[in-house]
Amino acid sequence: MKKKIGVIGAGFGGLTVACLLAKKGHKVTLFEKNDQVGGRARIFEEKGFKFDMGPSWYLMPDTIKEIFEELGYDVNKELNLVRLDPHYKMFFNDEAIKIRKDMSENYKLFERLEPRVTPKIKKYLDEAKYKYDTAMEHFIEKPYLKATDLINWKMLKEGRNLDLFSSFDSHLRKSFRSDKIRKILGYTMVFLGGSPKNTPALYSLMSHGDFNLGVYYPKGGMNALAKALEKIAKELKVKIQLKTSVEKIEVEKRVAKRIVTDKKTYEFDEVVVNADYAWAETNLLEKKYQTYKRKYWNKKIIAPSAFMIYLGIKGKIKGLEHHNLMIENDWMQHFNEIFENPGWPENPSYYVCMPSKTENGVAPKGHENLFILVPTAPGLDDNDVIREKYAEKILNELEKRINQKLTDKIVVKKIYTQRDFKKDYNAFKGTALGLAQTLFQTALFRPKNKSGKVKNLYYVGQFTNPGTGVPITMISAKIVKKLIENESN
Ligand SMILES: Cc1cc2nc3c(=O)[nH]c(=O)nc-3n(C[C@H](O)[C@H](O)[C@H](O)COP(=O)(O)OP(=O)(O)OC[C@H]3O[C@@H](n4cnc5c(N)ncnc54)[C@H](O)[C@@H]3O)c2cc1C
Repeated sequence: MKKKIGVIGAGFGGLTVACLLAKKGHKVTLFEKNDQVGGRARIFEEKGFKFDMGPSWYLMPDTIKEIFEELGYDVNKELNLVRLDPHYKMFFNDEAIKIRKDMSENYKLFERLEPRVTPKIKKYLDEAKYKYDTAMEHFIEKPYLKATDLINWKMLKEGRNLDLFSSFDSHLRKSFRSDKIRKILGYTMVFLGGSPKNTPALYSLMSHGDFNLGVYYPKGGMNALAKALEKIAKELKVKIQLKTSVEKIEVEKRVAKRIVTDKKTYEFDEVVVNADYAWAETNLLEKKYQTYKRKYWNKKIIAPSAFMIYLGIKGKIKGLEHHNLMIENDWMQHFNEIFENPGWPENPSYYVCMPSKTENGVAPKGHENLFILVPTAPGLDDNDVIREKYAEKILNELEKRINQKLTDKIVVKKIYTQRDFKKDYNAFKGTALGLAQTLFQTALFRPKNKSGKVKNLYYVGQFTNPGTGVPITMISAKIVKKLIENESN
């Protein structure tokens, strides 16, 4: 049966689910409070610079390709994808190293950092591939509405091999003596919004993506992926209502009937929420229809926010690659300042993205486009004085790292952090990445893709299953599409 479906929020989860449902013939309307699609992957343009505001790593290309195929499109025709080499550059306190596309180069590097480590790395990457393939085949595309989704024969058999019950940190410590190797293999848990101590070793599967599947860049930035989905949505007749803020979901006898926006009220058969789960449950629904109330969210481990500085720089910068990770010797202190004792990090590890290394069009000729991202605890105090002071500190640190002056070459500078995430996306506690991917916030324990209180209400995006990250939120759209399709049949 064809239905009228309202989707709230045009992040990757919302855009993808709108496309998938429209492809099945449903009549879909997509509401977005901002003036462009993409959610946290919006773009900001000034003086000829084009900045990706959020994600910048195009990971799990096969997953994205499959979703495009399901929609009847070839991702390679819709996007101009470039494989990056080096994948990234890691700056330690005493040296900088590059992780290359060519694994033989990486093995040489690993041998220098820890003699005779190659067989151990090979074993680690084989295990990562095994975990990745098993998760993709058996675990990731599930809504976990019931315990049997998790506790099945395969799970009981594979549970130990998947390293669900040890931490990423202890897994790396057991496997490698070199602190640098541990950091190279371990930094990916930042993508999951966790720390080495609270992220299960299962997620070493991210290294499979990093080393085996490759790191890509879509020309036009990550926002080009959002634009491609927007184009497909329009071709599939999705009605996209930008600058339209949803204010209420009206429910009658446990059935969502209407979406009330700041402009008009609409009737639907099914409602899908992509706006931050915590915000939407506690703001759009009456208390009796909230599956997870404020108390629940306050107890959760919320993933980091981000302190971002978008910079347009006059002249060329030497020594930076497209992706650059600035790693402090004691990175646990920074993780503690995110998860244990929240505060502005004193000696942070941070990320610098310079897409103008790969694409001329993102900056005027003779200029560089870069953004700096420092992961921070969600819910920190944020005012103009704090942010300016913190930006100065980080810029000074970066200048020292790369031994070049930047502050006198700034043409564009925009700071974006806690209060902007709240204002622009209704982000719970200003989080950038949603809910941390800890063991007890994974699968069965993660807020569900379907409401427990309202029969025809679904959730898609980084707060629900399977989790955080662009391709992962696109998978959550597949889960919700299947749930709605199963109930329609
Ligand atoms: C700085 C940063 C860097 C990142 N880096 C990477 C990376 O390199 N690679 C990667 O894979 N992932 C990365 N991520 C994570 C990834 O971007 C997110 O997991 C993903 O984009 C979240 O998508 P989502 O579907 O949950 O929706 P969101 O992007 O959270 O979008 C939700 C949408 O709902 C809208 N909305 C909210 N309230 C309302 C309302 N009342 N009415 C209408 N609309 C509403 C919001 O405006 C927003 O557009 C990064 C995230 C950030 C913030």
